Amino acid sequence: METKIVAIDAGQPQPERIQEAARIIQSGGLVAFPTETVYGLGADALNPQAAQKIYAAKGRPSDNPLIAHIADFEELPALAAEISDTARTLMRLYWPGPLTLIFKKTETVPFATTGGLDTVAVRMPSHPVARALIRAAGTPIAAPSANRSGRPSPTKALHVREDLDGHIDMLLDGGEVGIGLESTIIDVSSSRPLLLRPGFISEETLKKTLKRLAVDTACMEPMAPGVHPRAPGMKYRHYAPQAPLTIVRGTDAQVEKAICFQAKEALCAGKNVGILCASESLLTYRHRLKKEGCRDCQSGRLLASCVCSLPYKDGEARLMLEVSGSRREPAEIAHHLYDALRSFDRARMDVIFSESFECGSLGGAIMNRLKKAAGYHILEV
Ligand code: AMP
Ligand code: MG
Repeated sequence: METKIVAIDAGQPQPERIQEAARIIQSGGLVAFPTETVYGLGADALNPQAAQKIYAAKGRPSDNPLIAHIADFEELPALAAEISDTARTLMRLYWPGPLTLIFKKTETVPFATTGGLDTVAVRMPSHPVARALIRAAGTPIAAPSANRSGRPSPTKALHVREDLDGHIDMLLDGGEVGIGLESTIIDVSSSRPLLLRPGFISEETLKKTLKRLAVDTACMEPMAPGVHPRAPGMKYRHYAPQAPLTIVRGTDAQVEKAICFQAKEALCAGKNVGILCASESLLTYRHRLKKEGCRDCQSGRLLASCVCSLPYKDGEARLMLEVSGSRREPAEIAHHLYDALRSFDRARMDVIFSESFECGSLGGAIMNRLKKAAGYHILEV
């Protein structure tokens, strides 16, 4: 299959391009499109065959349910059997926006969309392209992140192409997304609201409105074997780059020292090494690695990646420093996280070390993704 790539204005999407994409959705096809969180892989949420195609294109296990996206409040009652007062409060505060709510499903929603569950996840995105597409299609759009299952979510059209080119009908290229992390998910299908996935709307912020908000332990910890997850997606490996990733945690100075030590060991063994760090520590790494014999480190823009190399006995191993953003701007770190992980793949790094980014109210969501990407491989120093 050839994937048609169509540029679209993120602020004022061209109606004829939206119409073309909407016709594909209506006829059961797949269209990747930008949302404010990450790129989504869209299909008609009410068409079981179309939902199946999403699972096939992503290589996603069929019990990992999809989120149905709507553009207007009036579309919700067709999908959600019960809408609690808590849900109404959250919708008033955060829709349209990066919040997904889990409801008991109506009969209209096929089990193919909900992974066999009797609940349905619904979100109302704020991105103009997503909203225009849902309205033009005239149906809720099921849209998980537009990546191969397990890989970092796509925040640029390039990332979608890396994973899905040739497997989907169309990609609407609306440039880079704004937030860069998937939506916050809250289960409002029972009496006590339960946070299933942290996101841009943080636990801290939510607790100001929802005093009784419970937090699923699987948000931050690996799941114990045999435990049945509340959100089936929790049990799968997620967001991971190809090379093994280790998070190093401790004081800034200890972390910098430990990462440089580990990097040098790996370089001397001939491995290409990626380091993900905050902009505040970039100069320290450069200085230390230069002292260790690394050369060709380019100076320049702080957000640009820096590649240098170290000769070892059989040749030369490369080192790549990626800056995730400033610790004073956690939203910048969230925005750049997946792109940084994917750039290590493009540069064929063999091992990756990352600082820990437990900063600000977004730190929970960032570390939730990073820990899963690392398979919970954390080095405490
Ligand atoms: P993704 O679309 O890749 O961002 O993943 C969607 C997430 O929403 C997955 O982790 C799912 O497990 C979760 N999810 C979707 N529908 C439900 C549901 N009905 N109950 C619980 N979790 C859900
Ligand atoms: Mg995903």
